[in-house]
Amino acid sequence: MQQTLSEELDKTLIIDYTDNLDTFFQKLFDIGIKILTDRYLKNYKIEFQNIQDLDLLILCNYIKNTYLNTNSFLNLFDNLLLVLLYQKEVLLLNTKNKNESFYSELNRLNFVLDKYSNYRGLIKNKILKHNISPNSFMPKLYGGINRLVVSLTHSCQLRCRYCRVRKFKGEMTENVLFKAIDLLFTSFKKDLQLQFFGGEPLLKYNLIKRGIKYANVLNKKYKKNLTYILTTNGIALSKEKLSYFKKLYFLLEFSFDCKTQLKNRPSKDGTDYYPLIFKNLKWMTKLNIHYCVISVVTPDTVSSTFSNFKYLINLGIRKIQINYSLGVFWNKSKIKCLISEIDRIVKFIEKNKFLGIEFINYNGNRREPVALNAELSVDYDGIIYLEAGLSLEQNFLKMKNDFFIADSKKVTDINTYSPTRFNTFYSLSKIYGSSKNEKLRRIIMNNINLGIILNRYFLKKRLMHCENNRTAF
Ligand code: SF4
Repeated sequence: MQQTLSEELDKTLIIDYTDNLDTFFQKLFDIGIKILTDRYLKNYKIEFQNIQDLDLLILCNYIKNTYLNTNSFLNLFDNLLLVLLYQKEVLLLNTKNKNESFYSELNRLNFVLDKYSNYRGLIKNKILKHNISPNSFMPKLYGGINRLVVSLTHSCQLRCRYCRVRKFKGEMTENVLFKAIDLLFTSFKKDLQLQFFGGEPLLKYNLIKRGIKYANVLNKKYKKNLTYILTTNGIALSKEKLSYFKKLYFLLEFSFDCKTQLKNRPSKDGTDYYPLIFKNLKWMTKLNIHYCVISVVTPDTVSSTFSNFKYLINLGIRKIQINYSLGVFWNKSKIKCLISEIDRIVKFIEKNKFLGIEFINYNGNRREPVALNAELSVDYDGIIYLEAGLSLEQNFLKMKNDFFIADSKKVTDINTYSPTRFNTFYSLSKIYGSSKNEKLRRIIMNNINLGIILNRYFLKKRLMHCENNRTAF
């Protein structure tokens, strides 16, 4: 007898793991298609049975007892694949004796990872076969991008030791920038950000102004919530430029390493630029611009993290982000030192609440591990790359080619390129997997693990903070 719609509602879909990874993913994948195509499925829950793998079980429990929706489903699918990939990389990194069981486990993981690496594309193709209109499911499946990074130039006045941007005469033209802006407006998202990046983007100040003018005209038609970000070393700023950015509600990401600045960030031609930076930092705080000072710590300078932080506070800076350098190996003692320095910062903030300090790492806006964060970046020549925290163009030039996404000239819609964390990790693993670059694999896994450690630290701190606030009432 045919089931009526009411009988279909409030149902639980059961997925039995029974140790077969492929079947498990196949069942989940089929449910994903149902969720995206059947509008009545919103009253469904998934129940997972017999999951042996602790990491998978923890993830699946997040979705247990909640009604299905596309977001939670896609999140789960991406994270499950992410965990499998992590397990595979740990296996490759730590197994000395590569025996039969090693290869059988590797094959088991590889099979599922390769099969579903482009799971959103697979879902899309399957749904399209049923003659369903793309408009009805594409925004849910791909979500769209919030932010597009445009690299206006590869030139810079500095030669920071940890910089991963290759320096050469590569300058973006107006046409390339306008095309990038066109693409940003194709995003399904309502909130959009255009981030000016480099090299040093202020070397192309006039181009920035032309880009803004163009974007504002387009926005009259699309009516998005468009905001701008400028990432700068601060040297070429001036009062006039700061006023211009203030008027347009820019977020200014001002990179400044305090006492380690001159050691780690020498100028290209040996000039002393420190007084200029100082002046501009002062103007920035005085003009009350939306800003954030970003300080980079490396394994060599990590012990100065807290004193540098206090140095910034004494300068009147109130919004600070600490970036640990990526693409270098952090040994156990350096990681321990980083955590202890960050802990001193957190304690300082808690003790001095009246100062109104915003520590971006602590407030949860910086998603760890940052090595897996990914955005789309349009290079000076219009080529779109996956801009992962670990795109190490300077050190590993080949990597840039592997992060190629598309030529912006040939793209009419940016949405299907929106990357996920699994996509980033998968691309990274393919790069060092194919090049057999064990050193790179070790560094990448090390940077990811550092991010996981920091994530746990901040999560614990935030929970403690909430608990303390609760008991205070
Ligand atoms: S200021 Fe930025 S782009 Fe210039 S060398 Fe330093 S890190 Fe690289």
